Amino acid sequence: MNSTRTIATLGPASSDARTIRALIEAGVDIFRLNFSHGARAEHARTIERIRATAAACRVRVGILADLQGPKIRTGRTPDDAPVKLETGDTVRILDRSVVCTASEFCTDQPGLVAALAPGQRVLLNDGAVGLRVESVDTAAGVALARIEHGGVYASRKGVNLPGTHLPIPSLTEKDRADLAVALDAGVPWIALSFVRGAEDVRDLRRAIDAAGGSARIVAKIEKPEAVEAIGDILEASDGIMVARGDLGIELSPHELPVVQKHLVDAANRRGRIAIVATQMLESMVERPLPTRAEAADVANAILDGADAVMLSAETSIGRYPVEAAAMMGRIAKATEASAFVDRAARDLSVPGARGAHAMCEAAAWASRDLQAAPVAILTLSGETAFYFAKLRSPGPAYAFTPDAATAEALALAWNIRTFEIPFERDFLALEEAALRQLAGQGFVRSGDPVLLLSGRNPVPGETNSLRVLLAP
Ligand code: PGA
Ligand code: MN
Repeated sequence: MNSTRTIATLGPASSDARTIRALIEAGVDIFRLNFSHGARAEHARTIERIRATAAACRVRVGILADLQGPKIRTGRTPDDAPVKLETGDTVRILDRSVVCTASEFCTDQPGLVAALAPGQRVLLNDGAVGLRVESVDTAAGVALARIEHGGVYASRKGVNLPGTHLPIPSLTEKDRADLAVALDAGVPWIALSFVRGAEDVRDLRRAIDAAGGSARIVAKIEKPEAVEAIGDILEASDGIMVARGDLGIELSPHELPVVQKHLVDAANRRGRIAIVATQMLESMVERPLPTRAEAADVANAILDGADAVMLSAETSIGRYPVEAAAMMGRIAKATEASAFVDRAARDLSVPGARGAHAMCEAAAWASRDLQAAPVAILTLSGETAFYFAKLRSPGPAYAFTPDAATAEALALAWNIRTFEIPFERDFLALEEAALRQLAGQGFVRSGDPVLLLSGRNPVPGETNSLRVLLAP
């Protein structure tokens, strides 16, 4: 098992049971369901299929439900055909619904025009067309924009408005309905697209709480204002995704590598999960082998300190989904085996930290002093194991939990191998069972030291003991 997690997006190329199985065997740890595409009922069936397949493979994989968020799309063109916008011409942006042509278009956001101002950029079709607003007539609901670089757009193509504050909610009606499906199915991770600030994340947290859910949140960083607000967003989230597809449209590609390093580093300092996503092995959509630059991109994301790397089109619509996942795993393995990956325990301690966190810090340092001794973590909510994972302790780490949902969530924790075991009332019996399991499966040798992090009372987040035991 690699330390870095592989996330694979499922789609038409991969959501059948046979391919899901092959992806699990190729090393995929988490499946992403992209709720921007596909019917709700189909996603619910895919979740069941993932779990049934994982159970048949005797593993637990994680699931990440990715909500579309406030994504804006163009209206419809005649017969949904492509429309060409010529550089230097002007085009009108209308609030009212119209047939979209080369001279005017509307979007699915009726209040959009009022949020525009002269000088702002508007990008259509994943950045293929670049416009700059020249004038706005709010009363008429019309803006005039100059076509700075021409290109083609069509029906329902993405509209990006870098830096424009849109007075639209973080969770659309569609998102709320999608969220209900994900929470009903007990999905452990929810990603929110186009996060603008921490309040968007808190909105999602409130919606999850209101539904009685316990899912964790990944904030997708794909807008310049989210990069600026990253400190507050990290505070409110459990993890972030460097969503380079849209971020590369709203910023410029040349700015991305440094922004990626900055975001991953900020997440690591704050003890939050960092995912690097999009176009990592893009050429594998069509071909069985990646370019050298793509292989280097995956390796460099790992060297930046990412906890997880993600495949999108490669596995959802590509011709070689299983090959792409296997390739990602091989690159991760080769990179992790090198001396370039930092495995010196990180110090995340802050004055006033919780007892559980202090215990994790102590375990990581103890493992370092004991020649990378394995650490076993008994965890109910998973919190102790997630925190421990962010410390980058040099040795192997094993989490034991009685909770299936926690085990599924921990699929995204760096270098943690999770076991589901029934929690017995008797604390010592539980510790013994954990150690026996490690010894029985050959993860530790009899007599080797094992560091055990646990709570005397099995209460979530109350890890309060660290002991050095010898494997049975
Ligand atoms: P998406 O998000 O795949 O949902 O667009 C990721 C990205 O923009 O990189
Ligand atoms: Mn995106």
